Amino acid sequence: MRRLLAITLLIASASAPAQTAAEANAARLESLRAVFPQLASRLSTLTPDGPEAYLELGEELLAEARTDAEFGFVAELFAHAYSHARENDPALANSACLALTEVTSSPRDVVWLRLIAGIVDPSRRGWGRPQGVELDPALALDAAGVISALRAADGVTAKRLLGRRAIRSVIQSNAGLMTSAGRTEVLSELDSQAELWPCPTCQNERIVNRRVGDRIVAELCPTCNGAPGWKPGAGTLTGQLRFEAVMLGEYDRSWAAQFAVDLGAPLRDPDPDELPAVFGVDPAMPFWRGGRWSSTP
Ligand SMILES: [Zn+2]
Repeated sequence: MRRLLAITLLIASASAPAQTAAEANAARLESLRAVFPQLASRLSTLTPDGPEAYLELGEELLAEARTDAEFGFVAELFAHAYSHARENDPALANSACLALTEVTSSPRDVVWLRLIAGIVDPSRRGWGRPQGVELDPALALDAAGVISALRAADGVTAKRLLGRRAIRSVIQSNAGLMTSAGRTEVLSELDSQAELWPCPTCQNERIVNRRVGDRIVAELCPTCNGAPGWKPGAGTLTGQLRFEAVMLGEYDRSWAAQFAVDLGAPLRDPDPDELPAVFGVDPAMPFWRGGRWSSTP
């Protein structure tokens, strides 16, 4: 059970036990149908030899989706696109994987999806947006550099990097790796940390000289306690390490294992075969018939 995404659990809990599967399906599509009259006919034309149609429909519905059930259905469309594209169109499978990050709330699940996106199409890696915007490796390195500079109390370097619009945009669009808080909060937290360092009392010397009577004694700096630099809490530090690892392109299993513990929950191994089931999708049932996925056309 722990392998299920939060989104799958939400769907499960939204369906009362007395409801049949078909009733639950009908209920969760009701409001989408209201804003998307052609939904039924679009769904009926989906076939596994045209995986891009699942992705396109999912993206159109994503703009209208409001409830967990609706986001769940969009996720199913993306998961179908992924599973039917994997063999012949890795770039499309990669896009579908990244599209799934748009309907996934947990930063840990986003990392897992990005890892899989990188595995199914290594040429596109896992950090591009579904639209295919590439991340410049040099910018990614500088984005990671902001975090490490702040931990090293080098506010001057951090401020210089944060002064570049392109770096701010890389940090903002990947902020979900660091925190589940809002993305703009991450940048303002980094800005205010950059103002704090170097230590205003000891200038990162760690000790201060104090006159005691006619003697000068060296003491641990009372402001930074002899340890200048950003000291994020445990959860935040894990998020920062994850952000840095992704920025530095460390996608492999050893990285996943290294950061396996995140707020007490394990990061799933990035197994591309596992993705459809995580979103409650059976690739052998690709046809939408009578309000449910079916194996027969
Ligand atoms: Zn100090």
